[in-house]
Amino acid sequence: MGSRDLNKEQLLSSLEEVADPRVISAMSHVPRELFLPEPLQSRAYDDTPLPIGRGQTISAPHMVAIMCTILDLQPGMNVLEVGGGSGYHAAVMAELVRPGGQVYSVERIAGLVEAARLNLARAGVENVTVIQSDGSLGLPEHAPYDRISVAATAPSIPEQLKQQLKIEGRMVIPVGEDYQELYLVTRKNGFFAERKMGVIFVPLIGEEGFRERN
Ligand code: SAH
Repeated sequence: MGSRDLNKEQLLSSLEEVADPRVISAMSHVPRELFLPEPLQSRAYDDTPLPIGRGQTISAPHMVAIMCTILDLQPGMNVLEVGGGSGYHAAVMAELVRPGGQVYSVERIAGLVEAARLNLARAGVENVTVIQSDGSLGLPEHAPYDRISVAATAPSIPEQLKQQLKIEGRMVIPVGEDYQELYLVTRKNGFFAERKMGVIFVPLIGEEGFRERN
């Protein structure tokens, strides 16, 4: 067994404390190294966020595992991801909604959209569509969604994202600026927001997000 395989095994078993077994199994099928810039590939199974260019990061594996576990993704679901970045998180969700499910991943930075498409193709993931747009407004074309996963922190929960959730749908989203918390939003006859944990994400930049700072 190579050192990368050993790291991967260790990482996956460390996730047993925070993640559902189906999520860990999905993560075992997605090669995280294919979603990283070449010089960082040897660190693919360190449990840490890593830079993917343009000031953005790929989330730490435990964060992907926790968010996927909270979302409770099931085969056949229609999923929206806001903040596609490298495409890694989308690939894990895509595995969890197979067969029959689809992930639409929205990313605002063109260079990352291209890279994510390439990464997903190399990893052989077929049920993710990456779209360049402002995900703070959701993606009305393919709504409503069973699940929405937001990978960038918002000033508050964007109204459009709530409206694009199905009844019984779930959304995970970090909210806050200096201090951020991960929320689970559930839609029933109304919307219910539950705080889960403190987190650190890059900002959601857009109409219902933060303004770009330059
Ligand atoms: N899920 C990603 C993590 C990406 S980090 C992964 O697995 O790699 C968050 C991403 O959100 C960044 O790439 C950033 O460019 C993007 N982002 C920020 N605001 C956005 C917006 N309004 N719409 C779409 N993407 C946005």
